[in-house]
Amino acid sequence: MTYDAAVIGGGLIGMTTARSLRLAGLKVALLEKNRLAGESSWAAGGILARFYPWRQSEGARALVEASQADFPGFVAQLQEETGVDPELLHCGILVADTKEQEQALAWARTCNTRIEPLDKDRLQALEPNLAEHLKAALHIPSAMQVRPRLLAKALRKSLVLHGVEIFENTEVTGLQTQDHVITGVKSHQRTFDANQVVVCNGAWVQQLLKTLSDVCTDIVPVRGQILLLKTRQRLLSNILVQNEQYMIPRKAPYVLCGSTLEYVGFDRTVTEEAKEALHAWACRLCPQLQDAELADHWSGLRPGTLREAPYICVHPEYENLYLNAGHFRWGIAMSLASADLACKLMTKPSEAQPVAQYGWD
Ligand SMILES: Cc1cc2nc3c(=O)[nH]c(=O)nc-3n(C[C@H](O)[C@H](O)[C@H](O)COP(=O)(O)OP(=O)(O)OC[C@H]3O[C@@H](n4cnc5c(N)ncnc54)[C@H](O)[C@@H]3O)c2cc1C
Repeated sequence: MTYDAAVIGGGLIGMTTARSLRLAGLKVALLEKNRLAGESSWAAGGILARFYPWRQSEGARALVEASQADFPGFVAQLQEETGVDPELLHCGILVADTKEQEQALAWARTCNTRIEPLDKDRLQALEPNLAEHLKAALHIPSAMQVRPRLLAKALRKSLVLHGVEIFENTEVTGLQTQDHVITGVKSHQRTFDANQVVVCNGAWVQQLLKTLSDVCTDIVPVRGQILLLKTRQRLLSNILVQNEQYMIPRKAPYVLCGSTLEYVGFDRTVTEEAKEALHAWACRLCPQLQDAELADHWSGLRPGTLREAPYICVHPEYENLYLNAGHFRWGIAMSLASADLACKLMTKPSEAQPVAQYGWD
């Protein structure tokens, strides 16, 4: 049997891409070396925004904004199809102590996003459990979060309902070619014949692509560690961001505190040093977290790149090989628009305008 499309990698990028392709009428195989959404997508906090949105490039901004617009409807549809609630919350973001107010407000005017500068009194009124030494913040009330593991659970059910064929514990070891055309993908167990292939295997993209050619991406694994703290009651209602660190209050009384940015290869170990640093930072900003119980501490390997935007494009040497990868710290936030674009490139290439920023450099 020949599939219309084989999707390599079952993280949230591969899962959303497989769903879009299936809804476009293709016969789809989704191949995952372990279990679906067990890597970076499992580790993610689920913020559906960039922390400093005014700093992002046009390409990144387009993917985040289009995904943000689609998320409420997408989650409602998933919930109706599957009965699983991915806990989308309109929780808002507070960016603490930034000196970039002017830049932020100018950006907000260009894209119809509300950003409110809060002085110390207004900040305390909004979030009374924050430390008094925090003098000001920018408030983005429209920002949302989702629980990535629940989103993945709902997506898995939806993929099965729509007839995507899922192959877990199936590591793709290489691509099958004939006369410079991809004809399928190889795993230890078997070969999957496919007319088109899309590579969505996160931090492992380079390992796979180098089995095919010398054309490289710059994607490397970047470890992120994060803590889950259980509190007696809800201490915060907004996500709080300061520099590269953040706290995400969940619907239940839990706060996630993340995250580190570590270039240590494919090592997913968690460290005492990171635990202490993240915990100390969180307690400095929200002193009541001192009494919280450390419920969990985990890490994930982000598909890191120095580019501002992911690769969503055709491979330069193979016209039926595509990439949807390299979403770094924003893969959940960019997932829906990335999947849509990858699907369009593969199914209606005449309508899809390839975007230079998402192509090979
Ligand atoms: C601590 C942390 C916090 C984060 N917080 C956020 C956040 O708040 N918001 C946000 O938008 N993003 C966040 N991210 C980033 C986000 O997790 C990633 O951008 C996103 O999950 C990338 O999805 P992916 O599907 O490309 O990669 P992954 O989820 O890593 O999926 C890739 C999959 O490919 C599989 N695979 C690899 N090689 C092969 C092969 N040869 N054959 C078959 N399968 C293969 C892997 O097993 C894996 O399941 C965070 C990341 C971390 C680590």
